[in-house]
Amino acid sequence: MEATDWIPRILVVDDNFAIHHDFRKILLPSEQDDSVSATRLNNIKNSLFQEENNANLKLPLYKLDFASQGEEALKLVKNESDNPYAVAFVDIRMPPGWDGVETIQQIWRVDPYIQMVICTAYSDYSWDETIKKLGESENLLILKKPFDVIEVRQLAYSLSRKWKIQSQLDVHMTGLENLVTKRTAALETSLALIRSTLESTADGILVVDVSGQVVDFNQKFIEMWNIPQTVMQKNNFDSIVEFASNQLKTPKKLISVIKSNYETLNIDSFSEVDLKNGKTFEIYSLPHKVRNIIVGRVWDFRDVSERKKMQDALLKEATTDQLTGLPNRGLFYDRINQAIAEAERNKTFLAIVFLDIDRFKLINDSLGHSMGDYLLRAIARKLSKIVRKADTVSRLGGDEFVLLLTDLHGKEQAQLVANKILSKIASPLEVEDHKFSVTGSIGVSFYPNDGTTVEALIKNADIAMYVSKELGKNTINFYSESMSRKFLTRLTLENDLREGLDRNEIVVFYQPFINLNTSEIVGVEALARWQHPVLGLLQPVEFISLAEETGLICQLGEQVLKIACKQNKKWQIAGYKPIQVSVNISSKQLKSAKFDEILKKILEETGLDSQYLELELTESVIMDNTEDVMTIVKKIKNMGISLSMDDFGTGYSSLNYLRHFPFDKLKIDKSFILNAESNSDNANLVKTIIAMAKNLKLNIVAEGMETEEQREFLRKNNCLEAQGFLFSKPINSEHMSDLLKAQQFKKAEQGENHEN
Ligand code: C2E
Ligand code: MG
Ligand code: MG
Repeated sequence: MEATDWIPRILVVDDNFAIHHDFRKILLPSEQDDSVSATRLNNIKNSLFQEENNANLKLPLYKLDFASQGEEALKLVKNESDNPYAVAFVDIRMPPGWDGVETIQQIWRVDPYIQMVICTAYSDYSWDETIKKLGESENLLILKKPFDVIEVRQLAYSLSRKWKIQSQLDVHMTGLENLVTKRTAALETSLALIRSTLESTADGILVVDVSGQVVDFNQKFIEMWNIPQTVMQKNNFDSIVEFASNQLKTPKKLISVIKSNYETLNIDSFSEVDLKNGKTFEIYSLPHKVRNIIVGRVWDFRDVSERKKMQDALLKEATTDQLTGLPNRGLFYDRINQAIAEAERNKTFLAIVFLDIDRFKLINDSLGHSMGDYLLRAIARKLSKIVRKADTVSRLGGDEFVLLLTDLHGKEQAQLVANKILSKIASPLEVEDHKFSVTGSIGVSFYPNDGTTVEALIKNADIAMYVSKELGKNTINFYSESMSRKFLTRLTLENDLREGLDRNEIVVFYQPFINLNTSEIVGVEALARWQHPVLGLLQPVEFISLAEETGLICQLGEQVLKIACKQNKKWQIAGYKPIQVSVNISSKQLKSAKFDEILKKILEETGLDSQYLELELTESVIMDNTEDVMTIVKKIKNMGISLSMDDFGTGYSSLNYLRHFPFDKLKIDKSFILNAESNSDNANLVKTIIAMAKNLKLNIVAEGMETEEQREFLRKNNCLEAQGFLFSKPINSEHMSDLLKAQQFKKAEQGENHEN
């Protein structure tokens, strides 16, 4: 450790030059060639420092400097600061200058590390006084005069060594201090980095030690939980948990998470809590380890309210019907499945109520889609109010609503709900000057009697609903097995119709129009029937809407047109008085490509003159007031074909609309005629329609005349043409031929009578 070439420097300060000489003799014996004392000193050294007696061991070398006055000594110390003195022997009395104490004070101001030995012959100062003046110092010793050689050498040796060790220690300490400063700066930097990271995170963070004391937290944590300073100041986890728990919907959840985290320290945990204010926080907790020993836990709180809201919205979007906000098919099926499982457990019933809005298509077509949408939303609201909380209302699409009624004990409960539905949706709605009430057809199926799966229950409720439609709408039917046999599924029917059209299964019936004064047949309406190979003769209600939906109506309509024109020509050829045949045209058909060319071709092929053909259009056609419709209508008119407005009064159109279209005839819907003689509202309406139609120079035909009273009413009100069961139901071509023949015969008879 000690550099071998290091020679300690010693300063002797004494006003007596003889003393200088003595020191030289004592400390530099080699210079004095005092080999005896050298050997002695060696021996002393060996005994003192327990070094082995080694013949080669030499006395230490010193470099001695001398000063006779304090000022002189101070100068030397200052000058030699590059190679400082290790030890100074200072005489206590040195007249006329500074005494030893003063000298030491002055020197220590320049170099406080020099080991001082005060040399004194008698007590100039007591030790206490000296200490008082110089202060307690480990670098100060007293040497009594006269000197003992060995004592001087011992002092020189051990003090210079002490000085050396101290200076080395000093270097080492400075190095250490520098290192500590550097490390502290580095630590501060990384601490600052950690703090700013902690503060810049969007999560609230809390660090707690194993005893539950708070170690650290960030500002975000305080903000998220709104924790007041008074709580944080307590510095304990329990107080924070208590404060936070008060904000939770179910505090128990958080408490149990915390409990399990502290029972098993070495786990990571994740949980989610809902706050009373609607927010949701995710909580991550993981052990805080220092050198692999768990010293606490880090709690990380993340506000996921926005993400949650978005997820909920997405889920809602995926499971609800956009138009009405009701559960969609997917969610509804799910609910039924759950309800089935529950009903099985509890041995209860459940019911599926299938509701289809009557003539919704007409409303939609004639009043526009936004009105249709408005109506569907209104119905959805009404239905939701009718059912109990545990029940579900859903829209399967279009105007089909389905309800799931759970926990029933009998069919009567479902009947009550179904009745309520019909009465509620019938209460009028007023929208932009239109007041309308709708009716619906309902079919109901029950679990477990009518099916044990979602599909079977819905299918059977659907079948029962079709029966209600068939039986005149606005009614309720419970499913029974016989219905199923009668009503094939829609899909089968669609296939059948496709094939049926190719196999010419569509037949045409005719229903005459009568002159009410003369009872003469003035025209016939062609009405489609479908001769189904299995189901028998089907009415339009069973296949026309299907044909419309599938687009098969164009092919069907073309067939009817051809048959009707051909038949009419046949009657003319047979010699009957020529009459007009009226053919119903759907709006799809009218708008289909080249409809005018199809008409032209049929007239050519059948040879029927265009004046004997009339097309019946519904109000939905003209409400759709587009250029295309206007153009085709004009083309038809120009061909010499007549146009009549069918079912007038049901489609919410006004007579004003009619002005823009070249109609020849207006057919008042049978719903107005059916009880016109007993219902004054209907009667007034019919009278008004007749008056206005006359004004517009339109012929009037009344539909649905079933009684003599109605006939009288119409005649009285100047409606001279009618169609109805009173005269004839729609009949096949042979029967119609018979009627025409009979009429021809009657006329001929009357003519003969006249002649006679
Ligand atoms: P529509 O054009 O209004 O035809 C008149 C309907 O009223 C016929 O029903 C007829 O049987 C019925 N009717 C006639 N007189 C009376 C009566 O006194 N009382 C009652 N209650 N009803 C009476 P049908 O034949 O069942 O036809 C229903 C509808 O099917 C037709 O109504 C028409 O819109 C449509 N349709 C029939 N054939 C065709 C066709 O070839 N093409 C198109 N596009 N639609 C057709
Ligand atoms: Mg018609
Ligand atoms: Mg009609």
